[in-house]
Amino acid sequence: EIKREFCAKPQITQYGGRRLVTMIPGDGIGPEIMRYIQEVFSHAGVPVDFEVINVNSSGPNEEINNAISSLRKNGTGIKGSIETNHDLPPNYKSKNVLLRTNLDLFANLVHHRNFPGLPSKLGAIDIVVIRENTEGEYSNLEHENVPGVVECLKIITRHNSLRIARYAFDYARKHGRKKVTAVHKANIMKLGDGLFLDCCKKVASDYPDIAYEQMIVDNTAMQLVDDPAQFDVMVMPNLYGNIVNNICTGLVGGPGLVPGANYGHKYSLFEAGARHSGKSIANRNLANPTAMLLASCLMLDHLELKEYAWLIRNAAIKSIGDLKIQTVDLGGSASTTDVIHSVLNQIDVAIGRKP
Ligand code: ATP
Repeated sequence: EIKREFCAKPQITQYGGRRLVTMIPGDGIGPEIMRYIQEVFSHAGVPVDFEVINVNSSGPNEEINNAISSLRKNGTGIKGSIETNHDLPPNYKSKNVLLRTNLDLFANLVHHRNFPGLPSKLGAIDIVVIRENTEGEYSNLEHENVPGVVECLKIITRHNSLRIARYAFDYARKHGRKKVTAVHKANIMKLGDGLFLDCCKKVASDYPDIAYEQMIVDNTAMQLVDDPAQFDVMVMPNLYGNIVNNICTGLVGGPGLVPGANYGHKYSLFEAGARHSGKSIANRNLANPTAMLLASCLMLDHLELKEYAWLIRNAAIKSIGDLKIQTVDLGGSASTTDVIHSVLNQIDVAIGRKP
């Protein structure tokens, strides 16, 4: 049995009352959005400084080592998505995965809910997806022993399954949630997903106050677009988490809206929930900056700078909801800079700089 890890104290680097965090702009829309995050933080007087580390799909390996060292030192970071070059050899690991595994950021958490002022596609949605973030289908173990026959290994361990299950139930209890659904394909992957389910079941027995159910991943996908209100907290292996997160993101408004977080014992890394680089809209002033702004607010909550998190979150949600400053992905015609200007303006209003 492993100990309860959910309440681990965050590691926070401070000097002169300010926090230093790592910023990895990444590829696609990452660099432009990160510049806006810096601008918004500076405008709101947030006592946070960024150590910017560039890691790109085409950059040398030292970059990722620098990013890992910086996160180990600072404890907390924010990142854009780093593209993975598909032409590289199969043993070449995604730099996003390297960050998560080296820092043991074992829990990916994305809270999907309707946005105030935006039309809901399927009624009220309030789903927390907790995804095992370090193993499963992302083990990067593929080989072609015989030409035309590829083995691609999925790794499920008792230790990691128990700790993600424990994390999900702790989260549910701490946040007053009623139910945890474990998502699996144990009818086909009897040993791998079977072990994952056994671990979830075992942990569930320690939480009689929280309902527990299991659902096969294909049925889950159907149920999510049929009756999403039935779901509360969900826990699952890595790849199912990616797919379920993308379905839920689509339901509540798209990849430009939903923030996400990666937590481990010591380190935390915040990013967009659906983890797309948005390369097709990069440098065109089209990207919706809301997901990353809200990810920066999750980071501020984590750093115990909740008043600043409120200030920026409130400004972002008002801008797209009440004021309808909406980018193309939301059906509007506003640019990224229009949204940012509105956010800066709303911050001024909230702190009394402007009426
Ligand atoms: P990757 O997974 O490597 O990022 P992809 O092709 O799966 O690549 P993208 O093209 O990066 O994914 O993104 C998927 C879709 O989401 C695209 O249509 C993209 O324009 C859209 N998208 C992603 N982020 C945003 C954003 N912040 N604002 C608006 N649209 C976005």
